[in-house]
Amino acid sequence: MQENIFDNNENNFNIPSDVLDEIQANIENIIQSFDIPDANKTDVIKKINFMYKQTKHISLTDALTGLYNRRYFETSFEREFSRARRYANDLSFAIIDIDFFKKINDTYGHSCGDYVLKEVAYLISNNFRITDMFFRYGGEEFVVILPETTKENAFIPMERLRKAFENSVYRFMGNELKITISVGISELSNDINSPLELFDLADKALYRAKENGRNQVCIN
Ligand code: GH3
Ligand code: MG
Ligand code: MG
Repeated sequence: MQENIFDNNENNFNIPSDVLDEIQANIENIIQSFDIPDANKTDVIKKINFMYKQTKHISLTDALTGLYNRRYFETSFEREFSRARRYANDLSFAIIDIDFFKKINDTYGHSCGDYVLKEVAYLISNNFRITDMFFRYGGEEFVVILPETTKENAFIPMERLRKAFENSVYRFMGNELKITISVGISELSNDINSPLELFDLADKALYRAKENGRNQVCIN
């Protein structure tokens, strides 16, 4: 096996998922070689398969919102970046940040903040094309990868999402809440050399959206 494929830190099992899949396939072979009845083998393999899928799912999703998490985002972003580069396809990227989210937690409590995060995740899940990928990046930040999409075309679903929040009122334990979001968009171009650069451009656009008064979508 290649060296350096595993993270050396014992507490961070950063094993690439294709390697995990290979290990999984080999476990099946090992169990097949056991001297036990076939029915038991099938049972054990089924259980291991289930545990493997469940563990994989847990490691790639966020427990609160059910969206894919940052770990999965990083793999997906690298992959989509390389693909777009190789085939000279359009690629846009967006960061969504909830405005004044700290105030929601401070005023109505953490459980209200958690409720808002779930609602935001729900709206995001229903707003994009099947080929777009969205993730909870961290705290109250979400990211979207839009393959084969220019920044002008990425603006359309982002603006629709922003308006959806603007036009909604959320209710939590008798309180009426108004939620707004700010969004920064970037697009792959010849002078961008890494996913990090594409990320930073969207982050700068997001910063501008915040500076200009929030509740808006900015393009870089
Ligand atoms: P801005 O408009 O500039 O984005 O202001 P903000 O208050 O949204 O930004 P800031 O980064 O200051 O605050 C983010 C807050 O998100 C801080 C923390 O209380 C909250 N937060 C992060 N993760 C969670 C979570 O899982 N649940 C809840 N309830 N709150 C969270
Ligand atoms: Mg933030
Ligand atoms: Mg915020």
